[in-house]
Amino acid sequence: VRMKSVTLIGLGPMGQAMAGAYLNSGYEVTVWNRTPARADELVARGARRAESVEAALTANELVVLSLTDYDAMDAILAQAPYTALAGRTLANLTSDTPGRARQAAAWLAERGAVQITGGVQVPPPGIGTPDAMTYYSGPRDAIEAHRSALEVLTGIDYLGEDQGLAALYYQIGIDMFWTALAGYLHGQAVAEANGISAEDFLPHAVKTMDLRYFLEFYAPRITAGDHEGDVDRVSMGVASLEHVLHTAQASGVDDSLPAAVLKIFRRGVTAGHGHDSLTSLIDVLKRR
Ligand code: NDP
Repeated sequence: VRMKSVTLIGLGPMGQAMAGAYLNSGYEVTVWNRTPARADELVARGARRAESVEAALTANELVVLSLTDYDAMDAILAQAPYTALAGRTLANLTSDTPGRARQAAAWLAERGAVQITGGVQVPPPGIGTPDAMTYYSGPRDAIEAHRSALEVLTGIDYLGEDQGLAALYYQIGIDMFWTALAGYLHGQAVAEANGISAEDFLPHAVKTMDLRYFLEFYAPRITAGDHEGDVDRVSMGVASLEHVLHTAQASGVDDSLPAAVLKIFRRGVTAGHGHDSLTSLIDVLKRR
């Protein structure tokens, strides 16, 4: 019986959690990290330390990469001879643009390696928990061949052969996440400027930030191209955002975030959408 084994390159918080999940599942784990000390704890738990990038690549057919970006991958792979890549499957769980993912997959293919592109949807503590998911794209057969190893980390949300898809879905999700979270932080800054603690505002914040109703209401209308202003209007949004802006200013809080949103709504009015639904702003946003 062949021992289950995997190589992990990149031991940031995410890579650490991934290597730990493999050790917990009885895998033989080979690790490499630019800063070697970050592997110490994992080595104490039974991981093998590769002394070079080449040794890390050649130790296993499946190599999981968890790095800051694809520039980091380029810098790491440049340290090994290309022969070390031949026959490897690189599960690249590093986030970057769809373009970089496609480019790297083509570069690896020229050297006899297969890339699987992944976009992890949970923070490090979520790795190895039942509800965790990762967007994957790339060759279906390579993903199937390594299904059990990938599923040690998270569930598989397979999007298709195009290597850029996993990166694209990840970036769209994180686009929504950052702006929504920035909205929370800005609102809380206004709250604190008025003596309301995060703890006190929490139940209200949870209610307000739960956008499920709006998403499920708007998505079919957006799909149908129906921007009728029967329940909401861009001009109403402008008036509302002006109150938000003035409240932030009166509280002595930075107003750049609501000002940026107000600017988008005003562009909508200028484009003739004042009496249309907020969803008409998508057409405005699609034109840079
Ligand atoms: P980090 O940015 O902390 O990952 C750092 C890793 O990249 C370290 O191993 C670091 O090495 C290495 N690295 C960076 N630059 C270089 C370089 N030039 N040469 C060699 N190695 C380099 O990220 P995380 O661990 O938090 O996450 C990893 C990936 O997972 C990222 O793409 C992130 O976007 C994604 N992700 C992260 C989530 C999170 O909550 N953390 C959630 C979902 C996805 P060294 O230790 O030597 O600095």
